Amino acid sequence: MTAPLRVRAPGKVNLTLLVGPPRGDGYHELLTVFAPVGLYDELIFEIEAAPLEEGQSSEPAKVTCPGVPSEGNLVGSALGALASASGWQLRGSVTVRKHLPVAAGMGGGSSDAAAALKVGAELIEAAGGPAFSSEELRRLARELGADVPFFLDPRPCLARGVGELMENLRLPPLPLVLTFPDAALSTAEVYRTFDGVAAEESGAAFAGRALRSETAWRSISRAWESEELILPELCAQVAGLLFNDLEQASFHLLPELLEAKVGLERRGVLGALVSGSGPTVFGLCVSEVEAETIAQELERDEVHATQVSTLAG
Ligand code: ATP
Repeated sequence: MTAPLRVRAPGKVNLTLLVGPPRGDGYHELLTVFAPVGLYDELIFEIEAAPLEEGQSSEPAKVTCPGVPSEGNLVGSALGALASASGWQLRGSVTVRKHLPVAAGMGGGSSDAAAALKVGAELIEAAGGPAFSSEELRRLARELGADVPFFLDPRPCLARGVGELMENLRLPPLPLVLTFPDAALSTAEVYRTFDGVAAEESGAAFAGRALRSETAWRSISRAWESEELILPELCAQVAGLLFNDLEQASFHLLPELLEAKVGLERRGVLGALVSGSGPTVFGLCVSEVEAETIAQELERDEVHATQVSTLAG
């Protein structure tokens, strides 16, 4: 067995999430802006790769992940997907230390899965097995979940389709305060509620809305890259684009999320938003110092909060 390998898997927030009408396959067309954040799960891999002999079935790695049932843990699914695709098995154990809240709209499970895909693929190749192309890894990632491909190379990006068509954005680290309401929300339930409460929208109307948002994000990214903006101006422009179509559905399911958002706004953040399907609510601040001050005030009021920055791209 090789020495334990330690890897960090970042979370994400969605700075924009536009949800279109359901498609023929039941999925909703999305336009989202993902930003990875500097809050990480830690994964410790103690596994080795070995070729599967004729007729031998793969022995799954043992995944220990307090707070998440081992059955159906996406880390195990990712290693299993690599084994099926390569004919090599990955034996041993993986320990996941969760720092990202579970089922909270921060993509922790997807990020852990992407980390397992990358580590497992490297181990198989290093042991003399087949090399996975980035296209193959992306395909396996897509099969594990719509957000998993983003975490293979987590940088701020625009994502379309069901989240798999990505275009990088140039953005600096953005100071955020994250608040974690003491509740979980199932993504599927939030989408079901969205279908019930959202106003009907045609595919063409959604495409128009998505195009306006994409264009605005590309323009901010270009202006930042060509140094036409300074950080406070950029933050103000980003605040103007914070939007999440799933917010109303998550407020409907957990009214305290609206209180969390209003609480952040009252404390002077530039903008506040539910991340993904919630319940994490984030506030965009003018500086890390302000984000830290607000996080401390919230903690004093017994609201679980922390300051982080997005990772630059
Ligand atoms: P998203 O924003 O991508 O919808 P999320 O942040 O809301 O995701 P996750 O924390 O990724 O939610 O977990 C969603 C579900 O996935 C949970 O119900 C959990 O049981 C399952 N899951 C499987 N593997 C993991 C893992 N390694 N970490 C967290 N959750 C996992």
